[in-house]
Amino acid sequence: MAERCFCNKWVVVRTAWTEINSGRRFAGCPDQVCNYFRWVDGPLCERARMIIPGLIRRINVLEGEVKALEVKKQKTDMPCNKTALLLLLTWIIICVYLFSKKTEAEM
Ligand SMILES: [Zn+2]
Repeated sequence: MAERCFCNKWVVVRTAWTEINSGRRFAGCPDQVCNYFRWVDGPLCERARMIIPGLIRRINVLEGEVKALEVKKQKTDMPCNKTALLLLLTWIIICVYLFSKKTEAEM
């Protein structure tokens, strides 16, 4: 919908995440310079106002846990790469050794 704020710019639709209006969209100034404001969605029902903030808190807790696990995984992945590199290097050394032994025996 074509709508301009008091700065004469196209409005943007954002989502409120306050306790009372969680998930409710509103139109406002794209640069948040003027005080243009209009609700896009109607008010939330009582049940949604009760449930949505709790769901958002749970999501935030779970996202925090995911980030912590990603950091932990990165830390544990690095020694594995070093171990694989060391194993590869060891195999190369063994192969070179065995190849040189074989060439010595053929002489
Ligand atoms: Zn504006």
